[in-house]
Amino acid sequence: MRVIGKVALAAIVAGLSLGAAPAPEQVDLIIRGGTIYTGSDAPFVGDVAISGDRIRAVGPHVPFTANRVIDAAGMIVAPGFIDPHTHVGDQLASADASTRLIPAFLMQGVTTAFIGNDGGGSPDVAKVLGTARTRPVGINYATFAGFGAIRERVIGEGDRAPTDAELRRMRALVAQAMCQGALGLSTGLFYAPQSFAKTDEVVALAREAGIRGGVYDSHIRDESSYTVGLAAAIDEAITIGREGGLPAHISHIKALGVDVQGQAPAIIAKIEAARARGQNVTADQYPWSASGTSLVASLIPLWAQDGGRPALLKRFDDPALARRLRDGMIENLRKRGGAAKLLIVQGKYANRRLDDVARELRQDPVSAAISVIRIQDPRVVSFNQSEEDIAAFMRQPWVMTSSDASGGHPRVYGSFARKYRKYVVAEHVLTLREFIERSSALTADTFGLDGRGRLKPGGYADVVVFDPKRYAERATYEQPTLTAVGVRSVVVNGVLAVDGGQLTRRAVGRALKHRPTPGTCQ
Ligand SMILES: [Zn+2]
Repeated sequence: MRVIGKVALAAIVAGLSLGAAPAPEQVDLIIRGGTIYTGSDAPFVGDVAISGDRIRAVGPHVPFTANRVIDAAGMIVAPGFIDPHTHVGDQLASADASTRLIPAFLMQGVTTAFIGNDGGGSPDVAKVLGTARTRPVGINYATFAGFGAIRERVIGEGDRAPTDAELRRMRALVAQAMCQGALGLSTGLFYAPQSFAKTDEVVALAREAGIRGGVYDSHIRDESSYTVGLAAAIDEAITIGREGGLPAHISHIKALGVDVQGQAPAIIAKIEAARARGQNVTADQYPWSASGTSLVASLIPLWAQDGGRPALLKRFDDPALARRLRDGMIENLRKRGGAAKLLIVQGKYANRRLDDVARELRQDPVSAAISVIRIQDPRVVSFNQSEEDIAAFMRQPWVMTSSDASGGHPRVYGSFARKYRKYVVAEHVLTLREFIERSSALTADTFGLDGRGRLKPGGYADVVVFDPKRYAERATYEQPTLTAVGVRSVVVNGVLAVDGGQLTRRAVGRALKHRPTPGTCQ
């Protein structure tokens, strides 16, 4: 068995002849003696050799010399992590060079992020990808064409179906975006005006992405019990994938709120059934039980938000509306699991739960929320998922790691490190190998990233070296911007972006252009 193992490992070392012993080849960088997870093989102790922006060899011992050797004994060496759902597009295009490095990601070993999720991605994909030429970035990125951006451009904010001409224009925009290198079509059917679209309209657009090799990436219509319900929203995503003829990917999969908590097994069964029928259905997930929102957005009924804050404050003082407003808020608070599940993270009551604030004010939680909103609308963290559901989704081999990175929530600074620390080390929900493969190779394969997501000869040299004893998030709900610890080195396109645990400030990321199916673009 040992011999077979050695032969298999030797085969990974590319371009080495077993016979003659030529003078040792010189490479740029060798990461020596770490425990290597290639993204698809069982782990082994060995070396990774890098030349230029590519991996030259991976194996138990690579007999090269190098300009720089990193001693990785005791460390884990893995493909740089790929985050398929983020909101860092603005940071990547920022005028500030430090912001464009995305330190929060690099310090977790994330070397590639997708942007344009939730339907927000501009269809002008050439422009989005072109920005990196004049504004160098710290990580690689790729983008989706966003259904919301396309629908707004063609139809506006209106709650109506498109005309035939409008549908043709929207389809043409998807086709153009795909031909410029989009990963696929993203939607956020939960959000207006995307929520005004019926399933058929989305299918028509998704088909344009599918023809060209894209993926349908969806923040589904309802992750909770607000409109159609979680189960029907999952069914819709599967339908769009099937009828659109393309892989369907569910963004940040979850069962949000008390009405749907515990539904993870049923949702998993639906997706497994679609996969058993031959459909490609996948999902990503962030490893946190809370989402981030504001106190108004979490509790105030939509009708009462119409007209913005001035109108809302007037309604607070209107006795004729008091009953209806209170009833709506009581129902929303129930869906979110009660006042103890809302943590205010901003302003006068920062880092206190709503039940605690209510006790201090000697008011019921709804009255207390109104009192707080009268001062300002603070950001809140809403604990609305069960750990059982999180673990059930996480165990599925088609669920990959994501952050959904956006401000005011520790997921920006800590998602990958937390998943390792909490769900691999502390709770054994995943093995280390599963965590790594579902944070790299699975994501690259699902979205068709050429030459990324694995440590293999000829592939791009995106690599993370981390200390298995120390790798952890420090960001918390109370202090969401603390950088993760335990990442020793990060290589992006062959260049050290993190060295000795410190950012090198080298902006060596690239805009990744997805290659459309040959013959589908002029
Ligand atoms: Zn989303």
